[in-house]
Amino acid sequence: MADRVRFGPAGFPIGFKGAVTEVPSYLKDEGLDAFEYQAVRWSVKPRIKREVAEEFRAKASENDIWVTMHGSYFINLAGKEEVVKKSIERLKACLEAAQWLGAEGVVFHPGFYGGKAPAEALKTCIRAIGELVEYMESRGFKTYLRPETTGKPSQLGSLEEILDMCSRFKLVEPTIDWAHIHARGRGSLKSKDDYLRVFEKIERVLGSRSIETLHFHFTHVEYGDKGEVRHRTLEEPYGPSFDLLAEVIVENGYKPVIISESPILDLDSLKMKKTVESLKARGVACGGRPDR
Ligand SMILES: [Zn+2]
Repeated sequence: MADRVRFGPAGFPIGFKGAVTEVPSYLKDEGLDAFEYQAVRWSVKPRIKREVAEEFRAKASENDIWVTMHGSYFINLAGKEEVVKKSIERLKACLEAAQWLGAEGVVFHPGFYGGKAPAEALKTCIRAIGELVEYMESRGFKTYLRPETTGKPSQLGSLEEILDMCSRFKLVEPTIDWAHIHARGRGSLKSKDDYLRVFEKIERVLGSRSIETLHFHFTHVEYGDKGEVRHRTLEEPYGPSFDLLAEVIVENGYKPVIISESPILDLDSLKMKKTVESLKARGVACGGRPDR
């Protein structure tokens, strides 16, 4: 469980040129405290050496950086049998390296409906996640598998589907990508209530544990009829609104880890941090949740 709201980039900070092991101190110097390692191009073998990953882990812990991993993009847990099998192997490679890196969770996009009915695709995906959970339990892995809400209606991964996956396994927790929810719903996050409803749904389906281990992706996003088109910076005139999300977070005392997927990554992380801190400084009430 994160001890405070934490902020950091999805991948190497903008303008950073060093080795991965130098990322934690760089982020700390910037004033950030989270990092999502990108294993998004990996196939069935880890593409980081174990020694390097373990050195990174030590540096992250020294610099108090919360670490997660974004798993391979080449995943479809709802596809044909062969495809699912390969996807499981790829996620296993990510999970193994996640142990070396000390990652709290491995984020992944569950897959595509293809020609399947949504319920059928979800069933196939849940079966595959079950296999992965068995693998994790047999190896004693403590990392969470974190399926992410997806940005296109063609992708398995509505909020409801993600929560359904998570409700079945102790080691599976959601990644809430707010831009994806917004794009998939063609601009569905308009008011504070729209945000609050997402938190309420998580708590209703998964209970308080999931509220205490919240993992978010955030960026502005451009969308069209088919959902997400491209990520945009917080300065560009797109949604969803980080200000509204920040109010909900501060007023309720939530402590999510917020990963910036903006085109300017860490620079927008700093902006998000500033927004949350200035709300706290203004003494926005921690309504009804004084324990957090
Ligand atoms: Zn994301």
